[in-house]
Amino acid sequence: MDKHTRLKLAVQKSGRLTDPSLDLLTRCGLKLSRGKDQLMGFGENMPLDVLFVRDDDIPDLVQEDVCDLGLIGLNVLEEKRLELAARGTRARFETVRTLDFGHCRLSLAVPAEQSYDGVRSLHGRRIATTYPFLLGRFLEQRGVAAEIVTLSGAVEIAPRLGRADLICDLVSTGSTLQANHLREVETVFESHAVLIRTPVELPAEKRDWVERLLLRVEGVEQVKESKYIMLHAPRSALAAIRRLLPGSESPTVIALDGFPDRVAVHAVCRENVFWETLEALKGAGASAMLVLPIEKMLA
Ligand code: ATP
Ligand code: ZN
Repeated sequence: MDKHTRLKLAVQKSGRLTDPSLDLLTRCGLKLSRGKDQLMGFGENMPLDVLFVRDDDIPDLVQEDVCDLGLIGLNVLEEKRLELAARGTRARFETVRTLDFGHCRLSLAVPAEQSYDGVRSLHGRRIATTYPFLLGRFLEQRGVAAEIVTLSGAVEIAPRLGRADLICDLVSTGSTLQANHLREVETVFESHAVLIRTPVELPAEKRDWVERLLLRVEGVEQVKESKYIMLHAPRSALAAIRRLLPGSESPTVIALDGFPDRVAVHAVCRENVFWETLEALKGAGASAMLVLPIEKMLA
């Protein structure tokens, strides 16, 4: 197959999104062989190749049609969109799917010993960030005139170096902030990974594979939280048990040979099944409960 029929997908080369991105592709059935340069991954069983790049380059690669698809943090994507808009250009990437990884938030943090008195108190303060456009929009929407100090990295040490009064940076657990004696005070933007594509019309063969990949991504995302639950129950408790099964539409009810008053119930739960749920089910009369992970799902 020539390059016009092989899809190109951009993935972060090495960073927080790399492992979960490759994990998603593996779950979608992709077998990748990586070349010596490690810049390109060749899809052995799908007409799809992976380009390994810095995450910041992914929106541009899709925008400029070098890649058909990309896996990227919404934070980087939105920053890019605002930056393009500021230059009078419209972003041309389309978000096709939100993904359940790369969860983080862009937050304002002040030196731990400093008091914080709401967004208004940021007037005239210097805020260090690598996301000047997202921060700029946040401040503008709240009518706050602060000075944005745009850095290319090491934002968390800017206050100690006297370059800024506070920072606006990505946080997930907050441990990095704590290590730098900073206190999170405001969420500017909530983020997670997304799958983006070029808005350009693709040739039929590529289009089919984008559709197939999307269905598989859909399936992978669905099974993550889903469980298959099996249990025995008195017929009289069926209604109560149905109500307790989290996110299950229509359980299968099976007769139990020799036990006219009891049935087996099998159901797909679209949410995690916790111990509390099992205990409640037991309380309602269920027994012999089994909870199984689901490997694949296709509607
Ligand atoms: P690159 O070399 O590719 O430019 P980077 O240093 O910009 O890497 P990483 O720190 O690997 O990027 O983060 C990539 C993305 O992971 C972020 O843009 C964000 O979407 C997501 N992310 C999730 N949790 C965090 C976190 N705690 N801190 C930073 N980014 C996070
Ligand atoms: Zn980056």
